Amino acid sequence: MSRFTDPIAGFGRTFARTAAGMTMDLASAAARAGEVAVDTVTGRDRGVGVLRVQVLILTDEAGTALSTPEQITPALTAADRILRAGTGVRVRVTGIRTIAEVPPAAALDPRANRGLVVDDILGRTEFYRRHLRDRDGPADPAFVGAPITVIVVREIAGHTTGCSLGISADWVITQASLYNAASENSYDETVLAHELGHALNLPHHRDRTNLMFPESSPPHRVRGTALSRWQRGVVQANRHVLPGGREPGRSGPASDLG
Ligand SMILES: [Zn+2]
Repeated sequence: MSRFTDPIAGFGRTFARTAAGMTMDLASAAARAGEVAVDTVTGRDRGVGVLRVQVLILTDEAGTALSTPEQITPALTAADRILRAGTGVRVRVTGIRTIAEVPPAAALDPRANRGLVVDDILGRTEFYRRHLRDRDGPADPAFVGAPITVIVVREIAGHTTGCSLGISADWVITQASLYNAASENSYDETVLAHELGHALNLPHHRDRTNLMFPESSPPHRVRGTALSRWQRGVVQANRHVLPGGREPGRSGPASDLG
């Protein structure tokens, strides 16, 4: 979506929110330090930080799940590879859950961009919010390192396959057909990472080789996965990213850059 047409304004908001989140929730960050310590002890390479992501797969009226964990996993792996290469931030998947409760039509086949903003204001995204809560994490969504939830919906209105409300929501929506490898005209591993980028406050980028290029048309015109230095800074400073590990290019091993 193209909500953040002014990158400077978006940047200011990132810092305002990051500062507020850190002040408000140092206790949560401390609670998460246990997780960091475990990785330090086991010697796992954490990069400069960790972004926790969970996936919720919706179910249609017939009771059929729209996708499977096996189908979603390649896009999650791609998001980890893309963010690690471009920012040093790792993606840690905290869970892929199928929601058995059949959602209302507006949640199963949602609108995009401005329509989704309006629906969010009107409370039509309540179904998502109710199922968002990371069962293992704190209830307060403002804490540092709050996970981003990727919701797999059936169909998004228009020619859109993914949508994010930017940093104002801890969730993004993606269309189930993106993950169906048997459908080469819709299968696209870049969309999940692109929507995570919006949730991390990245606006669109004009370069087709960049992850934040607005359009991607599989199978032959899929957007690139590059990220600029400026984008790296925005992602690393984000309230969703739990700091940890080494700065790539300084003292960390080459594997930091994936
Ligand atoms: Zn976009």
